[in-house]
Amino acid sequence: MHVFAEIITIGDELLIGQIVDTNSAFIADELTKIGISVRRIISIPDKSHDIIETLENSLKYANILILTGGLGPTSDDITKQTLAQLFDSKMIIHKPTLREIEKYFAKRGIEVSERNRKQAEIPNVCTPLKNSIGTAPGMLFMKSGRQIYSLPGVPFEMKALIKEQVIPTILKEFKLPIILHTTVLTTGLSESYAADLLKEWEERIPAGCSLAYLPSPGILKLRISISGSNREILKNQLKSLEEELKSLIGYQFVFGTDTDTLQSVIGRRLTELHQTLAVAESCTGGYIAHLVTSVPGASAYFYGSATSYSNNSKIKVLKVSESNIQSEGSVSKAVVEQMAEGAKRIFNTDFGIATSGIAGPDGGTELKPVGTIWIAVATPDKIITQKFFFPDVRERNIVRASITALNMLRIAIDEFNKK
Ligand code: ATP
Ligand code: MG
Repeated sequence: MHVFAEIITIGDELLIGQIVDTNSAFIADELTKIGISVRRIISIPDKSHDIIETLENSLKYANILILTGGLGPTSDDITKQTLAQLFDSKMIIHKPTLREIEKYFAKRGIEVSERNRKQAEIPNVCTPLKNSIGTAPGMLFMKSGRQIYSLPGVPFEMKALIKEQVIPTILKEFKLPIILHTTVLTTGLSESYAADLLKEWEERIPAGCSLAYLPSPGILKLRISISGSNREILKNQLKSLEEELKSLIGYQFVFGTDTDTLQSVIGRRLTELHQTLAVAESCTGGYIAHLVTSVPGASAYFYGSATSYSNNSKIKVLKVSESNIQSEGSVSKAVVEQMAEGAKRIFNTDFGIATSGIAGPDGGTELKPVGTIWIAVATPDKIITQKFFFPDVRERNIVRASITALNMLRIAIDEFNKK
């Protein structure tokens, strides 16, 4: 059965550009993963008239509607009242929600006000959906075989409700094809280069399979989806498609799958090998250290970093040669190599990485334009250095340089340990 959904996000703040509608993207992704086609995403104001008109129209085309926002206790939150009106229903107190509210206030020694009590009201025709991390429950309305979900706007509450309540309920109600996904994570590849590499492969993958390109600065995710009716067969097919894709793209570019990150992959490797890392950052300003330390357990292998921005700190802290800085400039092969060696020596680690470049928007010259970035990786027995050119805005140059440095490190770790 082909199931269509529409997502309706409600809130004046969405329409004045105050907040970005991230709820829709999350919901669309979750629905797509279970084989539902999202037909439209619509954002509308907190106005009864707009909510009713949009719902009535969407119900003509979709089996499932998902609404977010406007369930709170303030006067601008009118979704609940509007749904009660649309479904011709009375408001009743939802006891478990009231108890949660009373508990919350009792803990703080405050009286429950009438407004807070009202938060526990829901239309009597809906099925409440338990909100495991907030007070306002989600609501499910049924209308001629169609499901209408109304969820809180707060993203983390909405996410919990989608995963714990909405998806399981949809899976129970609709017979959907089995859809499996795997995402191959790559770095250093442009979308168009990858598309050329994969052109023939894409043409011959079996029906029911598809490939999506999901780019972000420095990283290109390739999501393979496959649908059918036999889970075991699909799993095996997906595994072999994944292997084919990985070998077509190549080891230098593929760093992981699904929820991996470069820093988590590196972290796992270094932990297994009992090897360690230090960083010296000029143009990336600490972003590499931030990525590395965002992985739990990083203290096992990450010893420290120097954000060495001035020439003086490169000379004094990392012991970079002053005459090299003068003759070649701080954005140069000699300097970035001495930075990586310096970090490795000072922090007493197996690996050291360093960056030096011109992130922009100012500081470029004809010889070294904005985006020129040198990266060095010092291993226990050699140093690998490369010059890159990232002609982008400052913020993205920093991200791309950091990711590129981590990928060079990933390859260097493997190469060193192969011996
Ligand atoms: P509350 O009980 O907290 O008032 P609510 O269901 O009334 O929840 P809203 O008032 O519409 O939800 O939104 C609460 C907050 O959630 C907003 O200030 C906004 O930061 C965030 N939010 C709402 N809708 C979205 C959306 N579509 N995408 C991202 N964030 C959103
Ligand atoms: Mg609100």
